[in-house]
Amino acid sequence: MSTALLANYFSGSWVDAGATESLPVMNPATGEAIARVPLSPAKEVDRAVQAAEAAYPAWRETPAVERVQYLFKLKRLLDESLDDLARTLTNECGKTYQESSDELRRGIQNVEAACGIPLMIQGYNNEDIARGVDEMMIRQPLGVVAAITPFNFPGMIPLWFLPFAIACGNTFVLKPSEKVPMTSVKLFGLLEQAGLPAGVVNLVHGAKGTVDAILDHPAVRAISFVGSTPVARYIYSRATSQGKRAQCQGGAKNPVILLPDADLESTTRIVTESAFGCAGQRCLAASIAVTVGEARRIFTEPLVSAAASRIVGYGLDPGVQMGPVISSESKERIERLIETGIREGARPAIDGRKACIPGREQGNFIRPTILEGVRPDGTLGETEIFGPVLSLVHVGTADEAIRLVNRGKFGNMACLFTASGAAARKFRHEAQAGNIGINVGVAAPMAFFPFSGWKDSFFGDLHGQGRDAVEFYTDKKVIIERWPAS
Ligand code: NAD
Repeated sequence: MSTALLANYFSGSWVDAGATESLPVMNPATGEAIARVPLSPAKEVDRAVQAAEAAYPAWRETPAVERVQYLFKLKRLLDESLDDLARTLTNECGKTYQESSDELRRGIQNVEAACGIPLMIQGYNNEDIARGVDEMMIRQPLGVVAAITPFNFPGMIPLWFLPFAIACGNTFVLKPSEKVPMTSVKLFGLLEQAGLPAGVVNLVHGAKGTVDAILDHPAVRAISFVGSTPVARYIYSRATSQGKRAQCQGGAKNPVILLPDADLESTTRIVTESAFGCAGQRCLAASIAVTVGEARRIFTEPLVSAAASRIVGYGLDPGVQMGPVISSESKERIERLIETGIREGARPAIDGRKACIPGREQGNFIRPTILEGVRPDGTLGETEIFGPVLSLVHVGTADEAIRLVNRGKFGNMACLFTASGAAARKFRHEAQAGNIGINVGVAAPMAFFPFSGWKDSFFGDLHGQGRDAVEFYTDKKVIIERWPAS
């Protein structure tokens, strides 16, 4: 494979990033460099934003029904290119081909949902709010908006934002993760084929310096961010202190509670899929399984044996069920956390360190790991691991389990496995998390629902996707009219 330097895309053209620095893009399963990503300097960000600014007046005047025609084309192109996109995604991100395809389908659903913008963007009005006076609210786009996205969903997360932003009449700048820029390059190839007017969508590669230039650019009106909590907090504060609108999704530490009456077969399958799918690198991965009462005896051994049977390897090899983690640094960090947890008293029921996949010795592999007796207030209990590690914590009652969930500083997802409607109702009422699963292990909201998140998992007022996306990407204007009677 070539290690060509990737280009930026703005004003409808692929352009050299003018960068003096670049980073290799690595295939995490093979350890090979597959491209180089430029670290675009501030002047390139300025060119991208200027392209978006220049395109904005004509784009906002384009009727919404015409704007979404490009999204209908994009949806068809994404469907047709799914195989190529999924292979690219697996090669740069490490997940299995099936996981890459599923992720892309979730992204495409956002394109489909945004095709409904002509309806979703409607305002409202009252005739005769006072005698002879009418009042109405209309929504208008903001202008240039930008998104900064993480490594773990390179196909889906840019599509949480781009379709809604442009369908609402904004022009858009994407800065994808420097670890996985190639899926975005393919996506922008399809946007180009869809025939969008030059400057409506723009792609600029880079890392922190590039992000800072986007945050500080006076013409950027709103920032959508997804990534780790420290960076989310930083971006929220730097963007909002300059008067920008910001929605910043952060990290997570998701607990799943197992009650003794939960169905053994499906719960075991769903919880292990949640913990080890995408090698645990999901913001909605089960990270702590809280067994209540008899559930410890019922579930521990089945969970361990389901984890042990998972086939680990290169995501394009047939039969592989779990890929590597993103980088050698990430592998080392996760292995260190496991070590710390053991030092703090946890017992490894299955230890995935020192994984060696024949023929893939250079890959960043960790096999599924389950630790018993994890202290909820210890390092493993509190840190986002972002790898294939499930911590088991035991409590006596469902109430204790809910208290444990609510003590956590994150609030991205919490799940309950049970056969009891009453237990489920209490849990969904009391659990302090933005995405709740009942007998569901990855409670990922569909494109028509907000992708929620509470506490340290979200900074902002309005989430992405669905109606919240329309709220985020539009300004409300209220008009009060009086006309003398003729
Ligand atoms: P990250 O925070 O390291 O990077 C995210 C983006 O921010 C990248 O584009 C990166 O270039 C940029 N960035 C990194 N450091 C920066 C800095 N100091 N200043 C400015 N920009 C910076 O996150 P990641 O490792 O790519 O992704 C994994 C994280 O994302 C996990 O914490 C995961 O939970 C989280 N995540 C959250 C959600 C959600 O919906 N809440 C979804 C997916 C991932």
